[in-house]
Amino acid sequence: MHHTHSNKKNTKNILDINYRVDSTYQTPVFEPLLTIAHAKGDYLYDVRGRRFIDLTGGIAVHSLGHGALSAQLVAAQLQKTSHVSNYFTTEPLLQLCKRLVLLANKYIPSVPYKSTFVCNSGTEAIETALKFCLLWKYKREFRHKKHVLYAHNSFHGRTMGALSLTGQARYRRYFEPLLAHTRSFVYNDARDIAKKCSRKTIALFIEAIQGEGGLSMLDSSTAEHIMKLKQKYNFLIVADEVQGGLWRTGTPFACQHSGLKPDIIVIAKPLGGGLPIGAVITPQQVHDLLSPGDHGSTFGGNPVVCTAAHYMLDKFLDPHIQKKRERSAQALDAHIHALTQKYSDLIPLGRGHLRGLAFRTPRIQGAVSDIIAQALHRGLLILRSGGTKLRFAPSLICEDYVYQEAFNILDSILHEYIYPHPKPSHTSQH
Ligand code: PLP
Repeated sequence: MHHTHSNKKNTKNILDINYRVDSTYQTPVFEPLLTIAHAKGDYLYDVRGRRFIDLTGGIAVHSLGHGALSAQLVAAQLQKTSHVSNYFTTEPLLQLCKRLVLLANKYIPSVPYKSTFVCNSGTEAIETALKFCLLWKYKREFRHKKHVLYAHNSFHGRTMGALSLTGQARYRRYFEPLLAHTRSFVYNDARDIAKKCSRKTIALFIEAIQGEGGLSMLDSSTAEHIMKLKQKYNFLIVADEVQGGLWRTGTPFACQHSGLKPDIIVIAKPLGGGLPIGAVITPQQVHDLLSPGDHGSTFGGNPVVCTAAHYMLDKFLDPHIQKKRERSAQALDAHIHALTQKYSDLIPLGRGHLRGLAFRTPRIQGAVSDIIAQALHRGLLILRSGGTKLRFAPSLICEDYVYQEAFNILDSILHEYIYPHPKPSHTSQH
């Protein structure tokens, strides 16, 4: 088989030999690459018993590796009650709301946060935050306020409100027109942000690190600028911490690195340890405006999922886990550093456990999906970000020996792409 660097068909052929999944009856909005049978720690195993090193963490969900959740704890809650309606509450939900408010107030003091709305996914949490911002405008009678701002290359989710705030054409193109009165700004561009903000601004949504959109990180100077504009024009800042939050970048919230003090914090992915959850941490000034019936969600705050979230928070806060996380981040950084030292074509991206690599050469930028396919073929799972970059979102406690094996595989692939051989080997370990 001849090797090409950017031919999609060729990539598929490479995969088709061993990786064909018959997904005839699964709605084809994704193309499943593997049928996973089980997973443990940093490894996924498919139905054929093949092992894959997982540097994707289920896309930033399995922050403590696969199988970290306590099955007994979850089962015990399942036996007590699996669901109550929105007319009632449960101890796991009440306590989770409180813990998240305390966490936010501890690490981002001076807002202050007052309450938490718990729902089922990142996009639902973004929808909720957007509705809270609109509710704030209406209940405070800010008739002049019209616009919700979002960044170029942002990703906030796939439901219509979140999509309206997602600054990437490929997600939006078949669904327009989206919500009116949204405006985009150039990420980290103080002048453009100043141009787009005015007394008409209701809210500004921002990711402190753009997980899907290319791993750009919010500058401290931009954060300060946004907060000054907020002072001037009185709008709400919403931090989307769905991917970057809950210690993935080394701190409880990714916005802490830039000093941004958001009014509303949205979290999701890792909180449920693999069970579906989203949460909106809400400030006093919005909390005070909310009344029963303003918003709701049948499964939001499900006691089983909230029990799982408590378990995950206990683990995240455990000093022993924190130590392991720091060691793991250092090890990951060392491997990325070593690769960038070896290949001058590479640019390191990201922070903590949300890392990536960009390529200087357009030919290799165009080959990113091939590189990812090659990695899978050799037993390594990695992600793409922003179309032309590689992304790693491993478990926060992934150990050096796992990285060692993963980066050896990546090194061998990059070597072939950066210094193309006449006939690179496609031998599979499987
Ligand atoms: N916001 C960010 C920053 C995300 O990365 C994602 C998912 O990748 C979402 C929102 C949407 O979350 P979900 O897929 O749970 O709806």
